[in-house]
Amino acid sequence: MPIRLYNSLTQEVGVLHPLHPGRVHMYTCGPTVHDRAHIGNFRAYLAEDLLRRHLEARGLKVEQVMNITDVDDKIIAKATARRQTLAEFTAPFIEAFFTDLKRLGIQPANHFPRATEYVGAMVALVEQLVATGHAYESEGSVYFRVESFPNYGRLSHLDAKGLSAGASGRIDSDEYEAKEAVRDFALWKRGTEGDLAAWPSPFGWGRPGWHLECSAMAMELLGASIDIHCGGVDNKFPHHENEIAQSESATGKPFVRLWFHVEHLLVEGGKMAKSQGNFMTLTTLMERGHSPLAVRYHLLGNTHYRQKLHFREEDLVGASESLDRLATFWRRCAAAQGGDLKTAGSGDPLAAAAQRARDGFEAAMDDDLNLPRAMGSLHDLVREGNRLLDEGRAGGDGCGAALLSLRIADSRLAVIERAAVSEDPQLTGEEQQALARREEARRKGNFSKADRIRDQLLELGIVVEDTKEGTRWHRL
Ligand code: AMP
Ligand code: ZN
Repeated sequence: MPIRLYNSLTQEVGVLHPLHPGRVHMYTCGPTVHDRAHIGNFRAYLAEDLLRRHLEARGLKVEQVMNITDVDDKIIAKATARRQTLAEFTAPFIEAFFTDLKRLGIQPANHFPRATEYVGAMVALVEQLVATGHAYESEGSVYFRVESFPNYGRLSHLDAKGLSAGASGRIDSDEYEAKEAVRDFALWKRGTEGDLAAWPSPFGWGRPGWHLECSAMAMELLGASIDIHCGGVDNKFPHHENEIAQSESATGKPFVRLWFHVEHLLVEGGKMAKSQGNFMTLTTLMERGHSPLAVRYHLLGNTHYRQKLHFREEDLVGASESLDRLATFWRRCAAAQGGDLKTAGSGDPLAAAAQRARDGFEAAMDDDLNLPRAMGSLHDLVREGNRLLDEGRAGGDGCGAALLSLRIADSRLAVIERAAVSEDPQLTGEEQQALARREEARRKGNFSKADRIRDQLLELGIVVEDTKEGTRWHRL
């Protein structure tokens, strides 16, 4: 089965064909570090992580770049107010960002370029665009001449009116005066030597525009043509439209083969955004008792990445319960796989159910990362598996097969195993397995075996007691 993905450029779901067979070059617009990233931002990064994990699970080698925008107007204003350098001001937000990526199980990109470290490449790109007539200098700034790029607007699918309206909403009047046309956008913004954020260039002191930063870093690290470029839908216009214009004007090559855009996380009907003051961070949610695993699972698993997701905190409780069911089933299978359960052989109905779930999961994921549908297959397996185990109709083979299907799905979900083994961080994996085996034995009414395992645990220094609320343990 080929991998099919929606491409915002063609507005169709099509088969992914990487430029170099077996390898995918992927660029992700990263955070602007003037504040903590919120869970709206992380919805985008989680969907992009899901994409990368799926490509890797299907055998592709992914090289991913995620930039850090560590210079922009807000950063400059805030750092100035605090009398800090850019680096001093942004350092804690960058650190917090990496902490949250880790908590959410987002795989680190291969490169995390910081805009301030690529100014040389940005200046070179501007020079090239000026030399070829795609850009012009005006009052110390440099602007891209949109008229010089006939394909402008192809990604955002906006007409001339929409493009102008969008552009004029984002510039201030002095910029308006300096530009030849309202649609033109700044590549290089005039500055003064000694400014908090100013670099020397052939056009005088100044700093790069945001759109230019991504083009320069993407092409510097991944080449002129990239397989997949990701971002939230709000990045489509003008940011990505401008990236295309600059990059293709400079290289004459198609910049990006597939544009992957993630829909917004909404709160009370509006986009969760720093500027709206309606945002929530992962730390806040953790302080309120939610686990990062439940946040990951909820933001990924309940709604397709191309649909808006209305965030309600109470939904995290449901997500946590659903994850718990998966984790419990994982532990049940881990305790019983290939072990003492009467092996039902190749006709084990649980093995057949596991294969069905695996096929269903993969087919849904190949179909534009339809994780909500893929989860349906997994939940079917849990329901059927628990029933078969309760009825004593599943064997060690079936449990092994079910565990394998869960493991394969979890190479993308990255929550089940962590939830299954982290139930008690004070126990080693072996001790947890022993407790799970004992639970299984008790469930089956095999009390002599349960007692045997209890004695073994006692030898390891763990006292196990069965109470009305369930099994409890403590160390001697
Ligand atoms: P920023 O730090 O504002 O540049 O945003 C970083 C990433 O988060 C970009 O890809 C944005 O498109 C994305 N993003 C921002 N707000 C949301 C939201 N409410 N839902 C989903 N993605 C978002
Ligand atoms: Zn970008």
